[in-house]
Amino acid sequence: MAQAVGAQLARPPNPTPSPRRPLVVVHDTLIVGAGIAGLALARELTARGLAPVVLERANGVGGRCATRRVDGQPVDHGLAFLHGRSPAFLAAMAAARDAAAITHWPRHRDGDGVPCQPQAFDPLDTRVAPAGGVNLFAKHLAEGLDVRLGARVETLALEPASHETSDRAWTVTLTGGDRLRARSLALALPAPSTLALLGTLVPQEPAIAPLLPLLRLIHVVPCLAVIARYPEGTPRPAWEASYPAGSSGVHAVLHDSSKRPGTPRLTLVIQGRPGFSQRHVDTPEAVWSQALLDEAAALHGDWMRTPDLAQPHRWRYARVSIGTELASPLVAHCEGGAVLGLAGDGLHATGGVEGAYLSGVALAARLTGSAPARE
Ligand SMILES: Cc1cc2nc3c(=O)[nH]c(=O)nc-3n(C[C@H](O)[C@H](O)[C@H](O)COP(=O)(O)OP(=O)(O)OC[C@H]3O[C@@H](n4cnc5c(N)ncnc54)[C@H](O)[C@@H]3O)c2cc1C
Repeated sequence: MAQAVGAQLARPPNPTPSPRRPLVVVHDTLIVGAGIAGLALARELTARGLAPVVLERANGVGGRCATRRVDGQPVDHGLAFLHGRSPAFLAAMAAARDAAAITHWPRHRDGDGVPCQPQAFDPLDTRVAPAGGVNLFAKHLAEGLDVRLGARVETLALEPASHETSDRAWTVTLTGGDRLRARSLALALPAPSTLALLGTLVPQEPAIAPLLPLLRLIHVVPCLAVIARYPEGTPRPAWEASYPAGSSGVHAVLHDSSKRPGTPRLTLVIQGRPGFSQRHVDTPEAVWSQALLDEAAALHGDWMRTPDLAQPHRWRYARVSIGTELASPLVAHCEGGAVLGLAGDGLHATGGVEGAYLSGVALAARLTGSAPARE
């Protein structure tokens, strides 16, 4: 039950006539972030009888598991395909695949470069590209959950839960001033975003301070990407993904339209290398998107330089550098009984989309004091 709520958020069941005064609405668990980690966490908590509320700043679920429609045609402009090997993740992935999903995509690879998650091509991993886009996976996870879209969390505070006791609870404030409260709060965000939100907590909480240097160990790199669509009749590359070894700027060229049934327009997604992306992350989009198209053309032919449509996308926090992930989610028990949980792709040794999912599952088990249902 993902829903757009925006200004509705702070209303009690019977709205009062005064929308200007911020009200505080109380929940048992708040989760910030409706990416794969936050959704997996919310599903697991719901399965254990809790009623978590997921707050998501965007207008849709999935985060970096993202699919955009270009003239109606799905294009995966973040994560290009789902992959993993743990029984829990494979079961979730299988439930979300559509009838025309392609198993083992990309089946035809070009180049000797290293993919961002090399284990994706290990025989132990299963790869799946849903025909409707990878975001179908997130939509499937969100089914039946209370997800509030357009709800950006600006600040966190720990406040007395009542006048009678020394109990404390979390208050989160959204853009626009609406406030929500819960005893348990989970942040399912890229590590730099988690650090930024925890930085709004004044005064700093003794139980949380030791987590901050751990979060700084997680190294997150940007990725500049361009969706490039080509005119009708353009010959299609024989490969489904190209990972050039010798390119200074291009990390991968994904033949996105090879995942779509029917007669899709030839559409590629060109991903920049981490170093290139870091250098250009604050420069104008037109500069770096043309540089990526030029370099792709130098690798694959002049035709690639001139798509009839180019859409740049800047992923400021795209991927965790391999080997900098922490092994598991983190939990802090604060004075007064409030609990903080942290999940996300930097908080499971597997990393990537599978690590994000497993971190959410593992955090649910830790928050409820139970063993993970299956991992
Ligand atoms: C270009 C690209 C290629 C990739 N390729 C691969 C790959 O090949 N293999 C692989 O395994 N992984 C890959 N990844 C990484 C993979 O997509 C991520 O590891 C995974 O999706 C992370 O999920 P998450 O839930 O941890 O975080 P996210 O998906 O980042 O979810 C966090 C959510 O929190 C929301 N949010 C942020 N701040 C706030 C706030 N203040 N208030 C409310 N909401 C907020 C965001 O909008 C987002 O929806 C790739 C990523 C990119 C960008």
